[in-house]
Amino acid sequence: MTESREFCPRCGDAVPERRDPLPGAPSGRDALLCDDCYFADFELVDAPDRIEVLVCSGCGAVRRGESWRDVGARDYTDVAVDEVATALGVHVDAEDVEWGVEPEQVDENTIRMHCQFSGVVRGTLRSAAVTVPVKVSRGTCDRCGRIAGGYYAGIVQVRADDRELTAEERAEALSIAESYVADREADGDREAFITEIKETDDGPDLKLSSNRLAQNVATRITDELGGSFESYPTLVTEDGDGNEVYRVTFAVRLPRYAPDEILDPADGDGPVLVTGVSGGTRGIRLATGEAYGSTADGDGPPDATRLGTRGDATETTVVTVEDDRAIQVLDPVTYEARTVPNPAFVDDDAETVLAFEHEGAVHLVPRDP
Ligand SMILES: [Zn+2]
Ligand SMILES: [Zn+2]
Repeated sequence: MTESREFCPRCGDAVPERRDPLPGAPSGRDALLCDDCYFADFELVDAPDRIEVLVCSGCGAVRRGESWRDVGARDYTDVAVDEVATALGVHVDAEDVEWGVEPEQVDENTIRMHCQFSGVVRGTLRSAAVTVPVKVSRGTCDRCGRIAGGYYAGIVQVRADDRELTAEERAEALSIAESYVADREADGDREAFITEIKETDDGPDLKLSSNRLAQNVATRITDELGGSFESYPTLVTEDGDGNEVYRVTFAVRLPRYAPDEILDPADGDGPVLVTGVSGGTRGIRLATGEAYGSTADGDGPPDATRLGTRGDATETTVVTVEDDRAIQVLDPVTYEARTVPNPAFVDDDAETVLAFEHEGAVHLVPRDP
């Protein structure tokens, strides 16, 4: 009779009959040791003596190796927990591992992490407690350093053609730029940032971290608000390899007329409410409700007179609808009954309408162009 027996390679004791190792189970010399020898120098947890974390005091990014990472940390304790979780190693033979950590703030820059571990090894529940001090030091990441140093490579200047920007356009242009850059950052692009926003009387100037970023911002602003932009490169310096380094200004020119302006194009058909400006001025003829359009490319912007904006119009009472072509309303200024053209955008049963008075003439204005 042949008896298959194995012996502990360290102490030589016979090892009780061993089941065949499960697929994927640890093998090698340790797997052959008897339990006594195996556990003699077993460490459930491998922990460093201390952990140092460098955190950017500007943006909260954490230094990992050679680079900075945004961790979205709410405070340094979160950072310390993350770092400990990354730095601690649990023995590969342990199964059903559970752990918990209790941070103890020692002083402003030191957090002592009390960690409890448990896991099943060779069918026995093992536990371990380790305490790791985490030292937080503050620095400045390369990105915050460049922002603080005023670094930029592209400029976007937002202006309008022959007029001031409206408050809405200013706000919209900045919001387009900020949300676009925030999206790039959220995608992990730490090189995308706005260095400075300067409001001038003519419109905002934005300094951005790269030419490409500035060009994309200018493109999005003109996609949303109409108009066009031109770029003007300026040679700043040569880099170490003799390549020329340019800073590029993107000069955005918003269209001459803004949405919600009321214009007289002087073509004999009366005033127009501007409803859109990308690719030419589009609008609604106030007398009839018919569409109005002028192509900016071919004819250039129409040489129109500005009468006011939709915000100048007020609610007024309909006295009577005379027919498809005429309606009687109260003059919003004098409150006298006035017969004016009945445009298609006024409902037959409307009790009030939006009216705009200009130099004695009353024009009805659509509520939602
Ligand atoms: Zn042994
Ligand atoms: Zn930073």
